[in-house]
Amino acid sequence: MVSPIFSRNRKVKILATLGPSSSSPEMIEKMYRAGVDAFRMNMSHGEHEAHAANVRSIRALEKKIGRPIAILADLQGPKLRIGTFAEPAVMLHDGTRFTLDMIQKKGDATRVNLPHREILSTLQPGHTLLLDDGKIRLQVIRSDGNSVETEVIVGGIISDRKGVNVPEVVLPVSSLTDKDRKDLTFALEQDVDWIALSFVQRPEDVAEARRLIGGKAALLAKIEKPAAIDRLDEILELSDAVMVARGDLGVELLPEQVPPLQKKIVAAARKLGRPVVVATQMLESMIKSPTPTRAEVSDVATAIYDGADAIMLSAESAVGDWPIEAATMMDRIAAQVENDPSYADRVHFTETVPDETTADALAAASYNIARTIKTSAIVCYTSSGSTARRMARERPSVPLLVLTPNRHTARRVGLLWGAYAVITRDVTDFEEMIGKAKRMALRHGLGEAGSRLIVCAGVPFGTPGSTNLLHIVRLIGDELKRR
Ligand code: ATP
Ligand code: MG
Ligand code: MG
Repeated sequence: MVSPIFSRNRKVKILATLGPSSSSPEMIEKMYRAGVDAFRMNMSHGEHEAHAANVRSIRALEKKIGRPIAILADLQGPKLRIGTFAEPAVMLHDGTRFTLDMIQKKGDATRVNLPHREILSTLQPGHTLLLDDGKIRLQVIRSDGNSVETEVIVGGIISDRKGVNVPEVVLPVSSLTDKDRKDLTFALEQDVDWIALSFVQRPEDVAEARRLIGGKAALLAKIEKPAAIDRLDEILELSDAVMVARGDLGVELLPEQVPPLQKKIVAAARKLGRPVVVATQMLESMIKSPTPTRAEVSDVATAIYDGADAIMLSAESAVGDWPIEAATMMDRIAAQVENDPSYADRVHFTETVPDETTADALAAASYNIARTIKTSAIVCYTSSGSTARRMARERPSVPLLVLTPNRHTARRVGLLWGAYAVITRDVTDFEEMIGKAKRMALRHGLGEAGSRLIVCAGVPFGTPGSTNLLHIVRLIGDELKRR
């Protein structure tokens, strides 16, 4: 059964991480109904079988409601970790010396194993190492290729296998580990729609992952390394979407550097027409509380005013006590922000100048038409989804109804601002194109008698990349009766 009405009263999308708190068919359906448009599985946690069960639940829900739903598999990436200590924990005191080496012996307050020769040989005097999510700060004094001697700048208690961040250095490691390759094979077998790549440092990381994915899923690059910021545009060019992964970004950099970077990444992604997700700690206090803090509500609102395509729930929905409430809260914040009369101006603060292409000219025209006359939707026919992305890039005032014969394209739209997809057969002539656009708009609650639609398509029909036609049509009473 197709859900008759367009229930989403907003353009921004909600991406929610699944975990123990949300992994049942019932919870997934409740989360969807509360407003979740796309689900994330974090391959750092949980077993393959648990993820596979979630995929089955989501696909069953798709069938039940007759709407495509996006699934994103997030690969862990190369998270560096130290070895183990002889004691449960040791105290590193400010000003003392601490060595990281290749010796496979349990550590103490003077040294520990760092089983990554490629990192040890890259570090130079002056470089900073951050341990345990930035809680401990070390500065390299000497390095001989096999070990580094450091000074403890900010000490603290350290224990086995804590994470290590090296913010200033482009690490000579691929962003795909052996585990990632196995997880990727699994995720592609599960027919997920998006693969997220963690700790991307260079465009080559994205290119390598693209080759491995081989077009079976779209690729989202997580921006969480300073090195990635330096080459942001090149990384964006090679990616289908990006994420402002604020968790690790805030460890690699100072917390106060994250908000300006969030604005920079969102703007850069929007300029290039790549969907951008703002993630991590958005409603963090809702892990334990049914209501968020004012500051968290402001944070979510800011991402929406900036024009992010999607906002994300992490631990709130994966392990929190209030996953449904968290999704509902995001939905409510979004509806409120997008109803603010100043929202349209604010969201267009980022200038997205059209490229010199027919598709962009039509997207800009559609945006302007929707500002000039009252319309209820832009309907766009697309096979690859590229026309839809260029339309969404304009951040038009009305919803975008994406009609596509391609199931993968339809599902990927789950991360695209303001766009809702319906899988339909390709049209073969002009009349059919207009007729179907009207019927679909009516069926999905995007218009009523008298409303006007903007319809975009490509002639000859069914040829990818050929969008060259824009038509304005009015829904009349007769058609309403025939729906
Ligand atoms: P990332 O850096 O990829 O965001 P993360 O460790 O921060 O990794 P999130 O996906 O942000 O993980 O989720 C937040 C927390 O929720 C995790 O640290 C973990 O404790 C828990 N979690 C997430 N997914 C699962 C899962 N499938 N099973 C168990 N716990 C999970
Ligand atoms: Mg991370
Ligand atoms: Mg996280």
